[in-house]
Amino acid sequence: MSADFDYCVIGGGAVGLATALYLSRHGSVLLAEKNDLFGAETSSRNSEVIHAGLYYPAGSLKERLCLRGKDLLYDFCQRHDIPHRRTGKLIVAPAADHPQLQQLLAKGQRLGIPLQLLNQQQLQALEPAVAGKAALLSPTTGIIDSHTYMQTLAAQAGLQGAILMRRTQVQTAFTDQGIWQIKVTTDDGPYQFSAAALINSAGLHATALAQQITPAASRIPALYPCRGHYFSYTHPTPFRHLIYPLPEKNLTGLGIHATLDLGGQVRFGPDTLYLAGDNLSDYRVDPALATRFADAIQAYYPGLQAGDLQPAYAGIRPKLHPAHKPAADFIIRTTHKAPPAVQLFGIESPGLTASLAIGERVTEMLQKI
Ligand SMILES: Cc1cc2nc3c(=O)[nH]c(=O)nc-3n(C[C@H](O)[C@H](O)[C@H](O)COP(=O)(O)OP(=O)(O)OC[C@H]3O[C@@H](n4cnc5c(N)ncnc54)[C@H](O)[C@@H]3O)c2cc1C
Repeated sequence: MSADFDYCVIGGGAVGLATALYLSRHGSVLLAEKNDLFGAETSSRNSEVIHAGLYYPAGSLKERLCLRGKDLLYDFCQRHDIPHRRTGKLIVAPAADHPQLQQLLAKGQRLGIPLQLLNQQQLQALEPAVAGKAALLSPTTGIIDSHTYMQTLAAQAGLQGAILMRRTQVQTAFTDQGIWQIKVTTDDGPYQFSAAALINSAGLHATALAQQITPAASRIPALYPCRGHYFSYTHPTPFRHLIYPLPEKNLTGLGIHATLDLGGQVRFGPDTLYLAGDNLSDYRVDPALATRFADAIQAYYPGLQAGDLQPAYAGIRPKLHPAHKPAADFIIRTTHKAPPAVQLFGIESPGLTASLAIGERVTEMLQKI
């Protein structure tokens, strides 16, 4: 039986859109997104930082796809005029010889990531408002307008013939006579179509959706959603670079950092709060968190007062490990061979940076089956 489409991509976040862009060079694509807008979940609730690739375990997918994705992303931004800036980033340490700073420096050297170790005087000269005894300057870290990025991905995939459906929620998928049958709900009611290959890029919902795909994949991981809050700074920016503390243990988060948006406004965040239930759309920011934020920020920016912080927004990380366990890697796995399916789980940070490299990888995986 021949299928309506060569590929069905479930999820129109940065990763699903980038995957649709790559796949549409090889065949017909239908992308299904349940919300009114593309990228309205995690892909627009993050720090919008193009990461250099320093933090992740050696050889992990996070490391490899971040390094490749960063190059692809800067190139894509330049070619398509997407607002972005290589702001550079400072990782600030409270002691001159801090072992974590030394480890990051050694790692950067191994990976060929440009880094410069600064002493206190050099840090002061670059960022007079920042307190620290030493810092690492990462000049290739930058920021991107994630909204324009996703609009451009959608437009470019569309130009290559991909059909991108909003308000289209995938309910189930099952195999029948060697192809995938996919049941969706739309504003016009339920609808069914078929595809030769299936890609589950449903972000926070990918693990739950995997349970609706039959035959069931083996080893569907458990989800540990972890919210991160942001506060905006009500004064003009005191910084020229992104300012990060040393990362948290087990890389649960990168520490409450200061990022700049392209308008030059500063926001602080995210913290890490594992969610007990499975409410994946609770994006509240409790104003009382400002005190805890102020304590953390004052370690590197003593000029901050809790009253300078305004609740801004929150995002939820689709983590695959509970608190106090080592960080899990991205899972990008061929779960079915005939007909093929690739499923993506745990695409937390640096998923925005890595999005084009993930799209490229998924496409290569499907070409090899
Ligand atoms: C607090 C925070 C800070 C971060 N900071 C950074 C950063 O600075 N830099 C960086 O590189 N990364 C960062 N990230 C990570 C990055 O945001 C994510 O890795 C990336 O956005 C994931 O994209 P995605 O497309 O996989 O997921 P999503 O953006 O969640 O997209 C999945 C889509 O699937 C749709 N969907 C779900 N179920 C269905 C269904 N059944 N049918 C149809 N559609 C469905 C959803 O509506 C959603 O739009 C951060 C993440 C968080 C939470």
